[in-house]
Amino acid sequence: MRRPMVAGNWKMHGTRASVAELIEGLANLALPGGVDVAVFPPSLHVSLVVDCLEGQLISVGAQNCAHQAGQGALTGEVSSTQLADAGCKFVLVGHSERRQVMGESNEVLNRKFEAAQAAGLIPILCIGETLEEREAGKTLEVVGQQLGSIIEELGVGAFVNAVIAYEPVWAIGTGLTASPEQAQEVHAAIRAQLRQENSEVAQGVRLLYGGSVKAANAVELFGMPDIDGGLIGGASLNADEFGAIIRAAGN
Ligand code: PEP
Repeated sequence: MRRPMVAGNWKMHGTRASVAELIEGLANLALPGGVDVAVFPPSLHVSLVVDCLEGQLISVGAQNCAHQAGQGALTGEVSSTQLADAGCKFVLVGHSERRQVMGESNEVLNRKFEAAQAAGLIPILCIGETLEEREAGKTLEVVGQQLGSIIEELGVGAFVNAVIAYEPVWAIGTGLTASPEQAQEVHAAIRAQLRQENSEVAQGVRLLYGGSVKAANAVELFGMPDIDGGLIGGASLNADEFGAIIRAAGN
């Protein structure tokens, strides 16, 4: 039985004051016991969030990490080792904004995934197709290549200690959501691809859906057999809305 997870990606939002306010709202939520919850603040605020959430059942993750673990001469980067030291448990790898805007390739993301695990972090690998790719009927091919890149390089065993988030690029921050059936089709394909390599790994790995998830559509999405929770962007900036999404995952 996979334990549901809801992750809140705050992206490049938040000042010290607004982050403190959001955390206060999160701390006041009555959260269901059966759901893993994590928030992903900008790296600048990770320590503040870790400190403020002490004693709460909410983990902290980072939105990105350097392609090498440890410390070194890499101006402007933050390593998985430093993030783990700061109290992070998870790190997003390959969010579409990093693939598309920062030009991160599968090769670079393989290194980040590996560096994250080397430092003891749990990577959440984000994969998904653009609208153009969906309209060209290439969704499963694109997602299969993004996933396959990690499997080929690091082996399917790397997913024993990882999470996968399917996030169609056209649904991120647009208000457009994949229908539960569209999302389930891709999640089932992801699990089938893993199953070809190792059925135990496929059965155990959590697959989150991301892309304009709100309280209003979460129940239906999370009700699908291969959707184990969500990666939430905009709606995670509102504690009450995020709380309602978490409760939907606990149903
Ligand atoms: C995201 O940034 O991962 C995301 C899913 O954003 P949103 O929920 O705002 O679409």
